[in-house]
Amino acid sequence: MSDMGGDAIEQAWDGVVATARRTAAEGLVVGTSGNVSARVGDVVLVTPSGVPYDRLGPGDAVGVDLEGRQVLGEMVPTSELPLHLAVYRASDAMAVVHTHAVHATAVSTLVPEIPLVHYAAAMLGGPVRTAPYARYGTRELADNMLAALRDRTGCLLQNHGTVTYGNTLDEAYDRTAQLEWMCRLWLTASSVPGLRPSLLTPAQLRDVQEALKGYGQPG
Ligand code: 13P
Ligand code: ZN
Repeated sequence: MSDMGGDAIEQAWDGVVATARRTAAEGLVVGTSGNVSARVGDVVLVTPSGVPYDRLGPGDAVGVDLEGRQVLGEMVPTSELPLHLAVYRASDAMAVVHTHAVHATAVSTLVPEIPLVHYAAAMLGGPVRTAPYARYGTRELADNMLAALRDRTGCLLQNHGTVTYGNTLDEAYDRTAQLEWMCRLWLTASSVPGLRPSLLTPAQLRDVQEALKGYGQPG
């Protein structure tokens, strides 16, 4: 870490490791599935490929620049580097979380867009799309994801998992958790024989998006 130095990098790396561990602890991934990144200036800190998150420590930071050149650490970066970098190049994201959360992945095999069973979709910018399948780690997957992310902060990857981003690692993580919860809700509601879930209209969702601007505590 010496050449990049700085408390900001060290703090962000601690956050990347903590968030990656959380995805495993909260059942959103199994083993070394998924990956997490955070941006500090022009450096993107990423989890290394195929390394269990509980083995990562403060000295293991892996960083690349926005073109993917390694600027920090010895370990090979995540195989989904194209996906993470595509998000940073196309948005003002500061953190990206990719998981194989089970309900979200199940839904990714069923529909091109998650039916509007809940207003939580507003937290992701609107109805959440599924990016068409492409092999993990490919430029094609990153391209499909970018199209699915248009005006959204999260999407499903068909037969693969989830991607969300945010201004902070916590925000990106929370969006993944909401997305997984919403997929679980839809699967639950749509599994009652003979009944179909009622859905919100696009206008109802836009109304929620407006209301959410004033949600929570002032400031
Ligand atoms: P990495 O271990 O290379 O990050 O890959 C995990 C994954 O989820 C690929 O899609
Ligand atoms: Zn994956």
